[in-house]
Amino acid sequence: MINVGLIAHDGKKPEMVSFVVANKDFLSKTKIFATGTTGGHIAREGFQVECLLSGPKGGDAQIAALLATGQIDVVIFFRDPLDKHPHEPDVQMLMRLCDVHNVPLATNPRTAYYILKGIECTMAHK
Ligand code: PGA
Repeated sequence: MINVGLIAHDGKKPEMVSFVVANKDFLSKTKIFATGTTGGHIAREGFQVECLLSGPKGGDAQIAALLATGQIDVVIFFRDPLDKHPHEPDVQMLMRLCDVHNVPLATNPRTAYYILKGIECTMAHK
C-alpha cells in the first residue's frame, strides 16, 4: 500500500479538496496522513485519514518525521506562495527532507496529478 502525506495551506484547501475528489479512485486505495485542518476537509469527503497536528502546531514536522522514517512514500503539499506562514521553517525542513530521502513532492495540483499517474503506471508494470 502507498502511504501519502497531504497538506494544504489555507488559501489552497479548496484546491486540495477538488484534487482528492478528482483522484478518489486512486487515493482511496492509499493510506492518507494529513495535517489537522487539511485532514478534516478530506475526511468530510469520505476518505479515511490519519489526522496529525495542525501545520503551524507541528503537523508539517510530523509529516517530515514520517517520510524520513520511510512511513510516507509521496507528499502532496499545496503551498500558498502568496501568503506568509509562521511555520515556514517547518515547511522548508519538510521539503529538504523529501530531497534527502528521495520522496516525491508535489506542490501544485498538476504536478500531483502526474505523480499519481506515474505511480499508477509503475504499479501496473510490476
Ligand atoms: P493545516 O496545516 O492542514 O492544519 O491547516 C497545513 C499547514 O498550514 O501547513
